[in-house]
Amino acid sequence: MNKILICDPLDPSGLEILHQSGAHVHQLTAEERPRLAEIIGEFDAMVVRSATQVTAEVLTAGKRLRVVGRAGIGVDNVDVKTATELGVLVVNAPTANLVSATEHTLAMMLVLLRRVAAADGALKSGDWNRKAYLGTELMAKTLGVVGFGRIGRAVADRARAFGMEILAYDPFLEPSFARDLGVELLSLEELLPRCDVVTLHTPLTADTRGLISAEMLALMKPGSYLVNCARGGIVDEPALLARLESGEIAGAAMDVFAEEPPTDFALIRHPRVVATPHIGAQTREAQERVSTQTAKMMLAALGGSMAVTAVNLPFRSSDTGGETLMLLAERLSRLGSSLQGGRLQKLSVEMEGISEGLQPAVRVAALKGALSAFLGVGVNYVNAQQVAEERGVQVQQSARSTCDNYPQLIRLKLSGSAGQIELAGTLFGDDPRVVSIDGFSLESRLKNCLLVVRNRDVPGVVGKVGTLLGEAEINIAEIHLARRPDETDALAVLRLDHHPSQEVLDSLERLDEVRWLKVVDLGGG
Ligand code: NAD
Repeated sequence: MNKILICDPLDPSGLEILHQSGAHVHQLTAEERPRLAEIIGEFDAMVVRSATQVTAEVLTAGKRLRVVGRAGIGVDNVDVKTATELGVLVVNAPTANLVSATEHTLAMMLVLLRRVAAADGALKSGDWNRKAYLGTELMAKTLGVVGFGRIGRAVADRARAFGMEILAYDPFLEPSFARDLGVELLSLEELLPRCDVVTLHTPLTADTRGLISAEMLALMKPGSYLVNCARGGIVDEPALLARLESGEIAGAAMDVFAEEPPTDFALIRHPRVVATPHIGAQTREAQERVSTQTAKMMLAALGGSMAVTAVNLPFRSSDTGGETLMLLAERLSRLGSSLQGGRLQKLSVEMEGISEGLQPAVRVAALKGALSAFLGVGVNYVNAQQVAEERGVQVQQSARSTCDNYPQLIRLKLSGSAGQIELAGTLFGDDPRVVSIDGFSLESRLKNCLLVVRNRDVPGVVGKVGTLLGEAEINIAEIHLARRPDETDALAVLRLDHHPSQEVLDSLERLDEVRWLKVVDLGGG
């Protein structure tokens, strides 16, 4: 009989499913909590929300532990790396809150345009003033959806029922796919001046951080509205406040903030702002769905099924060495996808010296890496193939049993709307390295923040780049320079201690010798 430990409060619907399966279910008590590492040894699975920290100590002590269920999306409180090393599957419930987040966006839009929150506040304080709350209809207005993924599309469907016209910006979506959905796909610069309401539904990635910048806000139609129920950090909040104060933007609705909980309330308290404390997923139904989906996934995983929404795959490093190869494939592909920069159309994965048994896992890891460059945490090993199919991304795989220069090599070719890029990577021990980018040979570690610079091959470039980074107090951990025979261009990969600000990147880009540059955060301290 499976023994399951419930560490945080879980909606009763999921508990019921676990009980009915015949498993022994135990709710962690307040007295037991400090002794979690002692208790866990008896259990086959544990369920957490965000409160319990599933540390390396807890995982290592869980001698029988096979599954960690995270009732929700984010797995920041779970040491996924250690879980993977120990062969413990981490499952989550990534789509359980889709409808709730969608409906909250619509609610925010209506409250904002009809000034419901302000009118309610005034009336409650005894002020009956109909004239002060002249609103705006949604009917016949244009809605700009930035990020046309699951929630963006669901918002668009509902907005159509209000008679809105839909425009979308999503550089990673096939135009033909958007056409089939009856939506006009534009660049952000084209979309913003045409919309009465702009709603954001992208993940928070290196590219979307600060996407709605002062320059983009300035492009918005005068008197239009902005809604952010996606992630804090996508909008430049001080720039938005300035636009609201000058009256160019009529109002903003925000469920998410750059800092949560916020310490600066200037934007939130602005009279034309409607704000909620990140409650997009806070509904009875979403909580119930999270609970039931997690319970079903846990039971499926305990029963040996791989068809679960796992954020990792259960490779034991001692058995196969598979997880380091997967890490290599994932990070190499994420780098390639970020450098390609446009809509991904085709990924080809060539494996050399990699055993047949590991090839499917390496392929799926490469796919996950390529997609997560623009889809963030929404893509996992289980759904990567399906997400690729939905988005029209073709995947090709080939293999050779031997490799010429290294024991093992992964070659990737990524083609998309912004061109094509080829990379190769290998393992130095357990250390994933990129050994070639578009024919430039190098040996750069695939971790942390990489700054990739393509420049004219003339003396002094590295010095200039280093000076600008030094002035911004950004330490360079490692630097690799590469040139190709008979070429006027060179490539540099710099591993940085932290992500440079947009200003630093702008000043680097302004250097005459620099053709292009890109920063890619690969994580993994
Ligand atoms: P999704 O992965 O289905 O869709 C995201 C879309 O954004 C994709 O189509 C992707 O191509 C697009 N995208 C990526 N980078 C982009 C860029 N630079 N410019 C424009 N588009 C870009 O994700 P989803 O499930 O629809 O979730 C959307 C957002 O909503 C996420 O940030 C998620 O965290 C957030 N969310 C918030 C709440 C809440 O409580 N407020 C609840 C659920 C989800």
